[in-house]
Amino acid sequence: MKKKRCIVCHRKADVYIVYANAAFCREHFIEFYERKILRTLKEAKFEGRRVLVAVSGGKDSVALLYALTSLAEALNIQIAALHIDLRIGNYSEESVAIVEKIAHELKIPIRIVDVRDFLGVGLPEATRVTKRPACAVCGIVKRWIMNKIAYENGFDYIATGHNIDDISAFWLKALLTQREEDIIRDFSIVTPPNPDYRIVGRIRPQIFLREQENMLYCLFKHAPFIQEICPLSRGATLHRYKEIWGDILEVNPVSQINFVKSLLRLRERIEKPKINMTTCKICGFATTAKDSICAFCRLRLRIQSWKNSLS
Ligand code: AMP
Ligand code: ZN
Ligand code: ZN
Repeated sequence: MKKKRCIVCHRKADVYIVYANAAFCREHFIEFYERKILRTLKEAKFEGRRVLVAVSGGKDSVALLYALTSLAEALNIQIAALHIDLRIGNYSEESVAIVEKIAHELKIPIRIVDVRDFLGVGLPEATRVTKRPACAVCGIVKRWIMNKIAYENGFDYIATGHNIDDISAFWLKALLTQREEDIIRDFSIVTPPNPDYRIVGRIRPQIFLREQENMLYCLFKHAPFIQEICPLSRGATLHRYKEIWGDILEVNPVSQINFVKSLLRLRERIEKPKINMTTCKICGFATTAKDSICAFCRLRLRIQSWKNSLS
């Protein structure tokens, strides 16, 4: 087979991106990747100034931090990083070390917070006490902590490393389990802030990038990242839905992009259901719960009563 050449400079290519039917050398892949993030944010009319990047230490959010650092001037933003130490044994210890190293290398201010200072326990105990799937508990805890830290430190947006493999797996699962509200309300590219309810905005700049592309970007930028997947997420059905996408993509390499774009367009045409937002009577942050106690505070109360029952 003829060796592929970079579509920009015609030197020997280092990667071939199947869905784009394009080969790139290292340098031009980096350019392709960053331009895609820039275009995604511009087309979604993102206009933030101070962005807190939520970095887990995995390839997606590490790539995001590097890319937003490169694009800070073009986007006219200031960035800082946040890492939540979830206290999941070695996995968390390694994650903290990697995120600290990266922030130092990129000369970016970083804040590392311990989940126990907010929840009273680490993620493994929280999962055991509540008897709920770890990823569901973790999602509630991370969202609340990210919003609180960003809000109290004057950030207008939080950036997360959600990629197209995450979103397409989540939406496929939503369709196959009749949870269409999961498609309607989640995963916007840009969700503006809502200061009345102390809600910081959200951006998901990698919504059209694949996990593989994030990994390649990290490798080409010599960015360290944690390779292990979170031990608490083993067995999560979302991983299975991601595997299914692998098979579909062999049939049609652009199916995943088409799937996400179609659902985004369909969503535009659906009238948004009215949500009754209020503020949590315990923490003061936003909630839609009828009893005005947010999911995080409910979790915290449950853990507190478990602790009390022990003493
Ligand atoms: P996940 O909920 O694990 O799929 O992660 C989604 C996104 O949340 C990641 O891409 C990160 O931007 C962010 N994130 C996940 N874990 C952490 C963490 N421990 N600290 C800070 N941000 C995180
Ligand atoms: Zn090239
Ligand atoms: Zn609350």
